[in-house]
Amino acid sequence: MNDSMTPARQFAGTDALTAQDLYRFYRAGEEETLALRGVALSVRRGECVAVIGPSGSGKSTLLACLAGLDEPDGGTVHVGGERISHRPEADRARVRARRVGVLLQTGNLIAHLDVGANVRLARTAAPGAGRQSVNELLEQVGLEHRARALPRELAGGELARAGLAVALANDPDILLADEPTGELDGVTEQRILALLRSRARAGGGVLVVTHSPEAVKIADRVLTLRDGRVGP
Ligand code: ADP
Ligand code: MG
Repeated sequence: MNDSMTPARQFAGTDALTAQDLYRFYRAGEEETLALRGVALSVRRGECVAVIGPSGSGKSTLLACLAGLDEPDGGTVHVGGERISHRPEADRARVRARRVGVLLQTGNLIAHLDVGANVRLARTAAPGAGRQSVNELLEQVGLEHRARALPRELAGGELARAGLAVALANDPDILLADEPTGELDGVTEQRILALLRSRARAGGGVLVVTHSPEAVKIADRVLTLRDGRVGP
């Protein structure tokens, strides 16, 4: 097959995400934890990468650093060619709003806004980026009928899909998800995974931290984190 026909080639150019030599230390009293010890990784456009590893290996710390929610103590992170690490908080927030979709375990919905308003807010944070309307984003996750519902009125699977609609609302260079299917039933998990897969197929970068063998199956590549270091 002609190399130029493969999906990864089709979206070649800048990587969706590049991280170089990331370090993160935590100090609590006398105790020092090296959560990340020189992590390097990249995610191409059109690629879905899974990060697995035992509890405490640094997965959530890594995701927070990649999203610009946390600052690494060393190393750099670029998203869509733009640096997100080692910048003032406001700059990181601006790059994140425009270029990063984040799906955290704690949820990414604002409690007092309905689903439609949550998606609209995330979309307006990235002017010009959102090619899809709020309705289209909700349709994509099968929630067009729940636009007026508040987060607390949603069932678990609906909440996960609403979170995904919010994470995709800014048409991000990279979608970062921390255990997105951790508490979902099998059917909902498959539905979320299919959406992540189609996001990559459409040319977005996807990085998913997961324990789920099902999530690993949809990945183009799997990285293992152990004691803050990444291996194959
Ligand atoms: P994982 O997501 O793989 O379970 P984490 O990134 O949450 O791992 O944690 C990696 C290491 O960093 C663990 O040893 C954890 O205890 C430590 N750690 C994480 N967050 C903090 C924090 N805010 N303060 C101190 N230590 C932390
Ligand atoms: Mg974690």
